[in-house]
Amino acid sequence: MSELPYSYEAPASQALFDRAAAVTPGGVNSPVRAFRAVGGTPRFMVSGKGAWLTDADGREYVDLVCSWGPMILGHSHPEVIAAVQEAVARGTSFGTPGEGEVALAEEITARVAPVEQVRLVSSGTEATMSAIRLARGFTGRSKVIKFAGCYHGHVDALLASAGSGLATFALPDTPGVTGAQAGDTIVLPYNDLDAVRAAFQAHPGEIACVITEASPGNMGVVPPLPGFNQGLKDACADNGALYISDEVMTGFRTSRAGWFGVDGVVPDLLTFGKVMGGGFPAAAFGGRADVMAHLAPAGPVYQAGTLSGNPVATAAGLAQLRLLDDAAYAKVDAASQQIQAMVSEALTKEGVTHALQNASNMFSVFFTDRPVRNYEDAKGQESFRFTAFFHAMLANGVYLPPSSFESWFVSTAHDERALQKIADALPAAARAAAEATER
Ligand code: PLP
Repeated sequence: MSELPYSYEAPASQALFDRAAAVTPGGVNSPVRAFRAVGGTPRFMVSGKGAWLTDADGREYVDLVCSWGPMILGHSHPEVIAAVQEAVARGTSFGTPGEGEVALAEEITARVAPVEQVRLVSSGTEATMSAIRLARGFTGRSKVIKFAGCYHGHVDALLASAGSGLATFALPDTPGVTGAQAGDTIVLPYNDLDAVRAAFQAHPGEIACVITEASPGNMGVVPPLPGFNQGLKDACADNGALYISDEVMTGFRTSRAGWFGVDGVVPDLLTFGKVMGGGFPAAAFGGRADVMAHLAPAGPVYQAGTLSGNPVATAAGLAQLRLLDDAAYAKVDAASQQIQAMVSEALTKEGVTHALQNASNMFSVFFTDRPVRNYEDAKGQESFRFTAFFHAMLANGVYLPPSSFESWFVSTAHDERALQKIADALPAAARAAAEATER
């Protein structure tokens, strides 16, 4: 790592990483945490408070990852912690229904009008997997349309984005997913309604659903072009398919009603995770009552979970959602806008060509000279500039997502002190990006 610009030793993190690598594949429990895209030592965090994280070497960072979205109130919010402590004291899992689940479901349905009924699960992956199964069970059809660059968790059928092309069935992106599992998945370029209409024409009566990130954040932030989501909804309605909006990332983050609160397009099914769990494993899928009625035990489509609706997770999620009022969103939006402006200004000052894209308070920077509208555009960026930028920010106490294909996340706790730390780190990082060369 010593050849990386602005890197520095992180001996305690490195020692933990070495220990981890002996007992865990690649030393991590989720691949992006290993820093493979940027190199260097992943920082092992020991605590978080507000906008700040502290690593095993005792260094503090302003956190612009926020656990990949969930920590919208910052770390260790006192009211969320109190709700968790109170729930833990009553017991951690009963395997029976409980009032907390009802209250969380009521909060979700009250916020997001198209969600008439909701089922709680433990991860975003489970939510999208279950929504797809339900769509197939409801329609009696097999095929699923997804978009290249959209991530919906590690669901076998959705881990396919390579070799996309109109009416070309997807090849699995990973060993372990069979051709049969990916064979019913049609992968199309994002923001291309003509491709969607053509796919429906090529497969009449075969497509169960279209699943899309409500506003993608997993290829960097690439918002839907005006009319795209409505076009998807219309194409589904015209062809007897369901429109599934994956709001695992955007839900309760981009507004109090998530991306639905921004564009108002009414999906048949929606999936949620991240923010609604308050930092615990809680996720959900929901939507039209007549579709959800097909789910067991009300209907024939099976779905279940030992820890679904876990009392501690639901207490955390409910406490977090109840604190997320209009004032909280205004705070997150304002901090996000300020950071976006600072980043763009610093890069412009150093003559670094870039596209800063946002979807409400989610944003990311592409080192490219044109707007990014789909995965192909995103892959065209100069990622080596991000690597230099990332390490300079890290060295100066700002923790960014360790990949140029990820959204940055802000919280209500990003106050003047946190913003000043970012402002102080930016000039050197922008210079590093300007001076970076491809290796
Ligand atoms: N859907 C989207 C849009 C996501 O961003 C993610 C995770 O990043 C998932 C689904 C999967 O969620 P989880 O990691 O909780 O399984």
